[in-house]
Amino acid sequence: RDVSPDAVPSAGAAPPVAAKSAAARDDRLHVLHSWSAHGALDPLVVTGASGVHFHDESGRRWLDFSSQLVNVNVGHQHPKLIAAIKAQAEVLCTVAPYHANPATSEAARLIAEVAPGDLNRVFFTNGGAEAIENAIRMARLHTGRHKVLTAYRSYHGATAGAITATGDPRRWASEPGAPGFARFWGPYPYRSAFHAATAHEECERALAHLADTIMVEGGQGIAAIVLEPVIGSSGVLVPPDGYLQGVRALCDKHGIMLIADEVMVGFGRCGEWFAVDRWKVVPDLITFAKGVNSGYVPLGGVIMSDAIAASFESRAYPGGLTYSGHPLACAAAVACIGIYKDEGIIDHARRLGDEVIDPALQAIQKRHPSVGDVRGLGVFWAIELVRDRNTREPLVPFNASGADNAPMTMFAAACKQQGLWPFVVGNRLHIAPPLIIDEQTMREGLAIIDEALATADRYCVG
Ligand code: PLP
Repeated sequence: RDVSPDAVPSAGAAPPVAAKSAAARDDRLHVLHSWSAHGALDPLVVTGASGVHFHDESGRRWLDFSSQLVNVNVGHQHPKLIAAIKAQAEVLCTVAPYHANPATSEAARLIAEVAPGDLNRVFFTNGGAEAIENAIRMARLHTGRHKVLTAYRSYHGATAGAITATGDPRRWASEPGAPGFARFWGPYPYRSAFHAATAHEECERALAHLADTIMVEGGQGIAAIVLEPVIGSSGVLVPPDGYLQGVRALCDKHGIMLIADEVMVGFGRCGEWFAVDRWKVVPDLITFAKGVNSGYVPLGGVIMSDAIAASFESRAYPGGLTYSGHPLACAAAVACIGIYKDEGIIDHARRLGDEVIDPALQAIQKRHPSVGDVRGLGVFWAIELVRDRNTREPLVPFNASGADNAPMTMFAAACKQQGLWPFVVGNRLHIAPPLIIDEQTMREGLAIIDEALATADRYCVG
């Protein structure tokens, strides 16, 4: 096996292996990263973090405007969270999921208490994709039906069922995928699939389209509609008022389970415990992960209605995971939910969105021809960049890579030059710092973005 520096591809490649730290070298030789071609990959070696910042091995400090993957809601290295994990580790690190234990029981109760309606029972997983797999399985078992409807422009995870449910290009490589899925278009006022002129029209037409989809797919055979209440990595798409209520009504009419995928937006990201709370919609199942414990220990899960939970009173639920309800992860969830409450983080996120981020982005949009649209809620926003505001031609082509993606790469580099770690997806910058970010730091970050947008403006026509 050739592990010499020469074995590393050189075209556009990372620095030679020999010149790097042990961490970088081992990574280069032994780690396969998600969603990445490794030839030119040169990941930052992160060695520490605190609050809204992390630092790399060179000692450089970064303002984390991505919360890693929209994850570290209470900030890095929160002392109460670390203490809770340490305390649990002293007592009980692991236990089989057929036992009960205090950390898992308390986490489930706290999650049920903040969940809407009668969603009172939790099935724990290790992350978001497993939560989706299990929510779909529960809906199928509960209804006795098999078909699942999911939205184009969505992301639900990378396991077999979850990637099939996904409506973004990442699923293409794993197609044909799992059977039993059909897709529909959801609302996206800036790029309406329905040629709608207003948010109200977009809502009405998206609901009519979903009703048609249910009709042609056969309402009697549909177990579930899976959707992200606020779409995350496919664009930070906030639905028009009335849309989620309309989907709920269609589900009720046809006996379909509504699965709200809150993996990215649950636990405060949108200024509510769950994004559905903003519209007072109660799904049958909610999937969660990330913010439940701010990602300190892997944890996800499904919260289900009493009716679905009742399905598994007299028959076994046919699914399980060795680490379901892992005590360390659940102790972290207990502490994290306590932090959200004690520090008023969710109200802070809502206020920050309404009073600081929204007005600042409106002003940024006015200043920069490359900014086509700004949208979001709480501490979850997107700036969508265009080459031409009149035609709304995206600044980079859909699914751009290499030279095609140069305008976004330059824009990201300009953010990084000022110490801000950006979260760039396609022709968009997603803005998702930890929810604990204070107003001044938020304004500083937005000022960096404002300045960096000058690089994108250069690519605009006219
Ligand atoms: N669902 C949504 C909405 C997500 O954003 C993600 C991940 O970003 C997932 C599911 C998959 O979660 P995981 O990566 O923990 O499997």
